[in-house]
Amino acid sequence: MNKSRSTSLLERARKVIPGGVNSPVRAFRSVGGGPLFIKRGDGCRMTDEDGNVFIDFVGSWGPLILGHKPKCVIDAIEAVLDIGTSFGAPTEREIVLAEAIRDAVPSMEMVRLVNSGTEAAMSALRVARGFTGRDLCIKFEGCYHGHVDSLLVKAGSGLATLGLSDSAGVPASFAATTISVPFNDLAAVEMAFDSHDGQIACVMVEAVAGNMGCVPPAPGFLEGLRTLCTRHGALLIFDEVMTGFRVAYGGAQARFGVTPDMTALGKIIGGGLPIAAYGGSAEVMNHVAPMGPIYQAGTLSGNPLAVSAGLAMLSYLKAHPEVYTTIEERTAALCSDNLPGVTVNRVGSMFTFFFTDEPVFDYASAKKCDTAKFGKFFHHMLDHGVYLAPSQFEAGFVGYAHSAADIDATREAARQFFAKE
Ligand SMILES: *Cc1c(COP(=O)(O)O)cnc(C)c1O
Repeated sequence: MNKSRSTSLLERARKVIPGGVNSPVRAFRSVGGGPLFIKRGDGCRMTDEDGNVFIDFVGSWGPLILGHKPKCVIDAIEAVLDIGTSFGAPTEREIVLAEAIRDAVPSMEMVRLVNSGTEAAMSALRVARGFTGRDLCIKFEGCYHGHVDSLLVKAGSGLATLGLSDSAGVPASFAATTISVPFNDLAAVEMAFDSHDGQIACVMVEAVAGNMGCVPPAPGFLEGLRTLCTRHGALLIFDEVMTGFRVAYGGAQARFGVTPDMTALGKIIGGGLPIAAYGGSAEVMNHVAPMGPIYQAGTLSGNPLAVSAGLAMLSYLKAHPEVYTTIEERTAALCSDNLPGVTVNRVGSMFTFFFTDEPVFDYASAKKCDTAKFGKFFHHMLDHGVYLAPSQFEAGFVGYAHSAADIDATREAARQFFAKE
């Protein structure tokens, strides 16, 4: 594969942008080699600066459930360009988007629009603390909630220990407000509640984990969190930035029938433009400024272009429920081969090929993967025109633009890798 233009662009980018990338996951660090610079996308395909074409299973890390440049979204953006780009004052379409979100996710009686998933999770956490008057947050090892200071925490060696940060630049006292426990481990959550009685503001969880690779909630796990939060007066926050409008129109809470107190959304709700949202019951959300004492704000929040793109996306998905059945079928087909030494996890159109023989149900079991072999697989697939996330610990996404033929071609490329191994 010719990578000459991507290689020279990376050299130039590195001089002005750390690592040449505006988000570290783009850097191919864990699979080796340099990132490809992308020139354009069409449907399920991306073309890089050297003219290589790939079937894309990253989909901008989740938002592109209809593929690149869906007509409904592009038309909506074009239509709104005429009115201006930002006003810093309310507009009617923000209400329409908030109503559409509430109708899809009824637990979000009130919604605040923000600009990124990070902001949504950070704000939900602040609201949970402000509402409960408590400081501590329980999160799960391997779950990602954006680069919020106190949420960049992994568990210590023991269960229910106060966290240490994964990132430099996070004061120890911030990290110490987070208790990180293994995903799918209700006993650990119960222990954390018991050892910090009356101090837990919230439990924040990816209801389907996607940021350690795709890891479904074990039967009873989400229900158990619901029960524990209610019993201890803590808020249950579903970070559905990835799963919202992805694993079902109503997100993981609709798919699994468990209702959180607050929800963070992002990715799909922006239709590929930067928008995110958080919300919950009116009782909780009325504590947010200007109604209440919890401050949260944004110069570009509710940006007309992003809101229009998001509205077009949600309207399309609502009017076309067959999107979900189709992408789920295609993903099931993609995941149906018996690949030696691989455990495949899938929820709806989210999937991960874990390079381990053993089941993957939390971060520790995900970490058993042969990442070197995954790196070889990644580059094999890239050479065969398939663009997967450049890390073992990411979810892949199938979108409505992937045809049955695209899925077949991808399966064939994967089978070739294992045939020559
Ligand atoms: C992507 C993601 C975020 C962060 O969203 P950004 O828009 O990248 O800030 C937060 N939580 C989850 C579950 C995500 O997948």
